[in-house]
Amino acid sequence: MQKGNIGVTTENIFPVIKKFLYSDHEIFLRELVSNAVDATQKLKTLASIGEYNGELGDLTIHVSLGKDTITVSDRGLGLTAEEIDKYINQIAFSGANDFLEKYKNDANAIIGHFGLGFYSAFMVAKKVEIITKSYKEGAQAVKWTCDGSPEFSIEDTDKADRGTDIVLYIDDDCKEFLEEPRISALLKKYCSFLPIPIAFGKKKEWKDGKQVETSEDNIINDVAPIWTLKPSELKDEDYKKFYRELYPMSDEPLFWIHLNVDYPFHLTGILYFPKIKNNIELTKNKIQLYCNQVYVTDSVEGIVPDFLTLLHGVLDSPDIPLNVSRSYLQSDANVKKISTYITKKVSDRLQSIFKNDRKQFEEKWDDLKIFIHYGMLTQEDFYDRAKDFALFTDADGKHYTFDEYKTLIKDNQTDKDGNLIYLYANNKEEQYSYIDVAKNKGYNVLLMDGQLDIAVVSMLEQKFEKSRFVRVDADVIDNLIVKEDKKAETLEAGQQEALTSIFKSQLPQMDKTEFSIVSQSLGESATPVMITQSEYMRRMKEMANIQAGMSFYGEMPDMYNLVLNSDHVLIKGILADENKECAAEVGTVQGEMDNLNKQRDELKKKQEGKKADEIPTAEKDEMEALDGKLENLKKQKEQIYGDYASKNKVVHQLIDLALLQNGMLKGEALSNFVKRSIELIK
Ligand code: ADP
Repeated sequence: MQKGNIGVTTENIFPVIKKFLYSDHEIFLRELVSNAVDATQKLKTLASIGEYNGELGDLTIHVSLGKDTITVSDRGLGLTAEEIDKYINQIAFSGANDFLEKYKNDANAIIGHFGLGFYSAFMVAKKVEIITKSYKEGAQAVKWTCDGSPEFSIEDTDKADRGTDIVLYIDDDCKEFLEEPRISALLKKYCSFLPIPIAFGKKKEWKDGKQVETSEDNIINDVAPIWTLKPSELKDEDYKKFYRELYPMSDEPLFWIHLNVDYPFHLTGILYFPKIKNNIELTKNKIQLYCNQVYVTDSVEGIVPDFLTLLHGVLDSPDIPLNVSRSYLQSDANVKKISTYITKKVSDRLQSIFKNDRKQFEEKWDDLKIFIHYGMLTQEDFYDRAKDFALFTDADGKHYTFDEYKTLIKDNQTDKDGNLIYLYANNKEEQYSYIDVAKNKGYNVLLMDGQLDIAVVSMLEQKFEKSRFVRVDADVIDNLIVKEDKKAETLEAGQQEALTSIFKSQLPQMDKTEFSIVSQSLGESATPVMITQSEYMRRMKEMANIQAGMSFYGEMPDMYNLVLNSDHVLIKGILADENKECAAEVGTVQGEMDNLNKQRDELKKKQEGKKADEIPTAEKDEMEALDGKLENLKKQKEQIYGDYASKNKVVHQLIDLALLQNGMLKGEALSNFVKRSIELIK
């Protein structure tokens, strides 16, 4: 028996390994099983080139649990004593040391990353044995033992078969790894697609109401997952089946892309466009990353463009550096190339479906648009490709490309300044009447009800020249698309004031909601009253909801306009009636006001050019008194209009109808409306 010291400088690196990688202890199994796979594949390669002429036999790798041990056995190359010395004593352990030196300040770089190798066994074991016999003719089997100190021993042993058994004596604080379900789960996670069969225990079957072991090995992996096969050998059903295996709870995918490149980097994989159920949180990181069929991680951020992290599937590449930090990853030349390649593949695929099967593309557009929008918003190069196949949907459910849509509305929806106005709604039901008004004008209205449409609208306004997007309820239609200079207002100041006071006095008080009353001449056949909300304010509020740092807008009340159509017979009627009822009373108040205003003007004139401290106190007081009186009279006038309005059922009815149309009439107000309506019909 030979003893020796492992060539490391740190007194005892294993406690460090343990502590450092606390959260990731489980990867030891991946490391050991993939070493076994490597050793087996190397032997197969040697056999295929005639350097090994013995029987290969059954190459299954066995993972087995003892009372306090885990053993990983392979029938691969095996090791000679010299090789153990070279690859384990010198290389593996010095590698461990270098690794820790390099990353001791960057735990993140270590966690979850590959390349820990054999020594990761010491994360869970207090003692490790390697019992191995080389494939080389006449090789002597050897047993290497190390208890976690830098000391090891190596001795000759008996081993019938070629290959390596790695035996881990599990540490007391890692007993969880001796439980079958835990190992089973780990094998499933890390080893499901390794290229050599891996057996864990025996297959079980139901017999007489309980599960019993059969004599057949329980193989836990699929040695040839479909991403390693040629696309030409695969049918749609194969892709769907694989998807179901990966994501048993998901709906059938919309499309998939089989990636297969050899140059300038190696990459295989299958990306699926999942069907996203409405209103369900988007889940990122469903893509699994493999390195030669060994599972590495499901966090692919930094490797694929952000918007593609919404896709599902697998990527397999030995060219992605895995033992580096994420920030480094993004600057890696290979990773950049891979990312660009994937983006291009995805857009090519979408483009080809769009071209060859537009009907299918349109049918799936609702599910697809979230990816496409996200991609266009976050990746300039994707926008440039997607702008040719991204679709608009109008309120009737018809789809158009950006170019088609522009052609459709160009003649009719260009305003007097040459701006192309895109009208949109984000809720077909709630904005029905506005959509209807626009349609009656011969305009087209887009439906923008997707999760990202607010942002898409802003982006397109930047991209499209001389174009604006306005929601149909942002103003009366003729103000949305202004074709000619405004008609002069038909009402005189007094009438405007009367209308405003009348309607304002009867508007219900609503939490965080404010109304401005405007009267406009909209034509006799247009609706008498409607509610609009300024595009600008609404967008600011919408942005505030999705963006931090804009809470100022978020806290502002919703501001609406109540637009009165001064051409409508009902509004004219109210004015005429109001005039009859209130003219005398208002006239008296107005007379007084005119009088006071005259005095005020004179006073103002006297003070012209004087600084505040040059005006005598008496004058200031007088001015204050005048203002107070005027304020009172103004209130009196409003009171007269208010009293009148409170008895006018038409006013109430019009306000309620406008609110009703916008889903703003609720509770008691709604109930009052119903009662009043019945009264009116009787
Ligand atoms: P890596 O696998 O990255 O080279 P490891 O620390 O995992 O690093 O392993 C060190 C070396 O030990 C391997 O390169 C290989 O030569 C040898 N080795 C490890 N496990 C086995 C095994 N099961 N069979 C044969 N050789 C092995």
